[in-house]
Amino acid sequence: MPMEGHTTICLSSQTGCAVGCVFCVTGVLGAGRNLTGGEIFGQYRAVLRHEGLVGAPVNVVFMGMGEPLLNVAGVARAVELIAETVSPKRVTVSTSGIVPGIAKLAALERRPKLAVSLNATTQAQRERLMPAAARWPLEELLAALRAFPLERGRRITFEYVMLAGVNDSDDDARRLPRLLKGIPCKVNLIPLNPDERYLGGLAAPDADRISAFAGILAAAHMNVTVRWSKGREVAAACGQLRGQIAPRPPSPA
Ligand code: SF4
Repeated sequence: MPMEGHTTICLSSQTGCAVGCVFCVTGVLGAGRNLTGGEIFGQYRAVLRHEGLVGAPVNVVFMGMGEPLLNVAGVARAVELIAETVSPKRVTVSTSGIVPGIAKLAALERRPKLAVSLNATTQAQRERLMPAAARWPLEELLAALRAFPLERGRRITFEYVMLAGVNDSDDDARRLPRLLKGIPCKVNLIPLNPDERYLGGLAAPDADRISAFAGILAAAHMNVTVRWSKGREVAAACGQLRGQIAPRPPSPA
């Protein structure tokens, strides 16, 4: 996936995911084991070789299968290995909001960029969509993000998977800027990548609804982008890229 002249490689951190997001096939399929730093780095190397990218400029995103911050040790080791050839500013770790993991990521010497899969504007709504969010309330998550050290020019990316009739109302759009106030950030709206087999009953809003939602954010002076179609932008969300560019991780031991 090209971005700013770089190709983006999406990595998995686990062989499943325990977070259980209702809009994600990986979440529906359930938990898996942590990949080691070596296994994650192996994915990276395999993609480089397979795609003829050895020596080419790349971005790396941890947005494949699994919750990276439930495997901080493996991800930190992989980031360290990748940082031999790729600047940490070209590496993004996407989390569903594992608060203790955010603090550990903040403490890394070669700190990658942070993306947060938000997807809701109230705690109750978030818990319905992302069951593991019950453990780390929005208030606690936002406090951890406000404390996350940002290098000059860096921002936190908030991913917002849009679900028709669930989290796409004008009220949601109006709440979002208030929620994120004071955090240097950008918001990436991601219409659901539907899957009739595993995500039946969930659909993406139509283009007008998405535009109206984005318009409210823009009017509130938020930096907002919309991922209109698969693969056009890199900043998707964990789970939403599954099966498109994430290499298959090793089978559970
Ligand atoms: S969206 Fe990410 S955190 Fe949620 S279940 Fe899927 S892989 Fe896990």
